[in-house]
Amino acid sequence: MNIKMDLSEIILYLDLMKKEDKRPLLNELKMMLYFLEDYQQVKEFYNKLKEPKLNIQFKFLAYSLIHFIEEREECIKLKQHILSKSKRKYYSLFIHEILLCKSQEEAMNIIDEAKQYGIELGEIWASRYDSMWRIKNDQKAWKEGIEHDQAELFPEMYEEFCEMKAKYFENLPLEHLKQNLLKEQTNGLNNRKVGKVSVFPRSVHVKEFAKRVSKGICQLCDEKAPFVDKQGNPFLEVHHIKYLSEKGTDTIDNVVALCPNCHRKIHLLELDQDFKKIKKKALKNMEF
Ligand SMILES: [Zn+2]
Ligand SMILES: [Zn+2]
Repeated sequence: MNIKMDLSEIILYLDLMKKEDKRPLLNELKMMLYFLEDYQQVKEFYNKLKEPKLNIQFKFLAYSLIHFIEEREECIKLKQHILSKSKRKYYSLFIHEILLCKSQEEAMNIIDEAKQYGIELGEIWASRYDSMWRIKNDQKAWKEGIEHDQAELFPEMYEEFCEMKAKYFENLPLEHLKQNLLKEQTNGLNNRKVGKVSVFPRSVHVKEFAKRVSKGICQLCDEKAPFVDKQGNPFLEVHHIKYLSEKGTDTIDNVVALCPNCHRKIHLLELDQDFKKIKKKALKNMEF
């Protein structure tokens, strides 16, 4: 599969659906869940889904989502929410809580609680508390199942997102895009200081800014982009001047748009003269 969505694209996808009064389909939500990389991202995704306007039916998504919850408190909240909405027997909600709890005694209590809902888990589960490795295995198995059954739907859903995204950015003046990003940069910093989760993953917007100011011209070799993408936009890749892995920031003063050749070259050769050139370009981008 040659598509990949990052969290910022997923959040944007949900926002655009919200704007168009569309409710994401279960398969679309599963695709998003599939692409998340760690529990932090799961939490941000889950928080987003709780927005009332999205109208998410958690009782259907719960079978999938539950495997990715890594905190007992969150697990209990999801479980209670589901049980209040549906009379079905959700074995996995209780089993997952056992895997997260810390003692045999707690596990026994969960087994008893399940009985009240007509769910017989069996005593064997009493010893399976505190099993993060089982949770990781379940996550892996879920992803493999998705690859087997649903991954062929992903390109189609992804393309729909690309069209929505292109339309959205087409109607968003560059000046607004820049203002949003600069505003968010300050908010983001303040949020980090107080330990809040960022609510506006920037990446997709930062990339759009870099592509837009480059006007389809590679910012290293100054040549036109080699081809246009399916939406008719010049194909350039966004490069972080100071790498994110080296604590570079995902901000508009740290990115340039490059043709695929130059992008390869920059990473392979890491030439000082190239570095200086793109650094200058990035500063000039900011003057736009
Ligand atoms: Zn180039
Ligand atoms: Zn790069």
